[in-house]
Amino acid sequence: MSKITIAIDGYSSCGKSTLAKELAAILSYTYIDSGAMYRAVALYALQNGIIKNGEVDKKKLIENLDRIDISFQYDNESLKSHTYLNGKNVESEIREMPVSRIVSKVSLIKEVRQKMVLIQHELGKKKGVVMDGRDIGTVVFPDAELKIFMWADAEVRAKRRFDELKAKGIQITMDEVRENLRKRDHEDTTRDENPLKQAPDAVPIDNTYMTQDEQFTIAFKHALRKISALEGKKA
Ligand code: C5P
Repeated sequence: MSKITIAIDGYSSCGKSTLAKELAAILSYTYIDSGAMYRAVALYALQNGIIKNGEVDKKKLIENLDRIDISFQYDNESLKSHTYLNGKNVESEIREMPVSRIVSKVSLIKEVRQKMVLIQHELGKKKGVVMDGRDIGTVVFPDAELKIFMWADAEVRAKRRFDELKAKGIQITMDEVRENLRKRDHEDTTRDENPLKQAPDAVPIDNTYMTQDEQFTIAFKHALRKISALEGKKA
């Protein structure tokens, strides 16, 4: 069967990765979490004295870019793909608050984005990929057959994120989560380099009042339609 590329973009904590993983699983596609890549760069910066007083030393980070190797490996125990930074599994560290606080500042940097986009192109070149992020449908795969743009009410997103962090045993207040999402949304939508915006041909999904199943049903229907259209062209 023909394979397509699925690009899912949207605001922080609006369920992009949940939907992307579900679509990848049912279609037997590869799921790529582009946010994890920016998070891994942010972790490298934190571990290597590149963040000072909450600000990124841009020059130093750019000088270090060639020393940052990011890859994904499937973990047979958790049945999930894990993110590796220079050969070390950093999957849980990159989800913690120190990284969340700095990641949007790291992802403003043009040279960082150029490097990430190159890796993303390489990972997605064989199609059969579901990638989520902020600029996937607009910059990384502007020719993706299916583009989805997601959002949800800010308070609903903050509550979902708060519950997720609590379940992991992370000590945090609702105010801290709310503020972190607000800042990331602001930085992600207003930056000069590849800001978050809806591609004109993206399917919009506001999941504020939707269940996971409902959003999956909508997205899967669109994916099947795109796949049959490709099949039709081949016939
Ligand atoms: O998706 P996630 O929330 O894990 O992404 C973390 C951060 O990485 C985002 O807030 C954004 O600053 C950055 N990002 C980006 N472009 C992408 C994916 C993520 O700038 N394609």
